[in-house]
Amino acid sequence: MSNNHVDVLIIGAGLSGIGAACHLTRKSPNRSYAILERRERIGGTWDLFKYPGIRSDSDMFTLGYSFRPWTDPKVLADGP
Ligand SMILES: Cc1cc2nc3c(=O)[nH]c(=O)nc-3n(C[C@H](O)[C@H](O)[C@H](O)COP(=O)(O)OP(=O)(O)OC[C@H]3O[C@@H](n4cnc5c(N)ncnc54)[C@H](O)[C@@H]3O)c2cc1C
Repeated sequence: MSNNHVDVLIIGAGLSGIGAACHLTRKSPNRSYAILERRERIGGTWDLFKYPGIRSDSDMFTLGYSFRPWTDPKVLADGP
């Protein structure tokens, strides 16, 4: 086994990849993983698009991560 071996390889550090990494850390802490992201920044589409007025379509109580529940009174989130 080489030193580069990981149990799980996550492709992409958008919301899905970040969420998968968090779930792995919490629910399977003995499993190693790496995230490969082709851009220099994480966040995926939410980092890529910066146009004025950008916001979520879904309510953040359901779009948000279960491990970081949305507590802001605003139902829709703006870009940042
Ligand atoms: C303005 C806006 C509002 C939205 N609102 C909602 C909403 O309200 N509800 C909803 O469900 N969805 C919404 N979406 C859809 C959005 O796609 C999801 O919210 C979410 O960001 C998807 O995350 P993801 O990680 O699956 O994909 P992405 O954010 O696309 O991330 C994929 C990542 O993988 C990387 N990648 C791809 N291929 C490779 C490769 N071969 N090697 C390495 N890295 C790679 C990319 O660079 C990227 O960082 C919205 C999108 C936008 C732009």
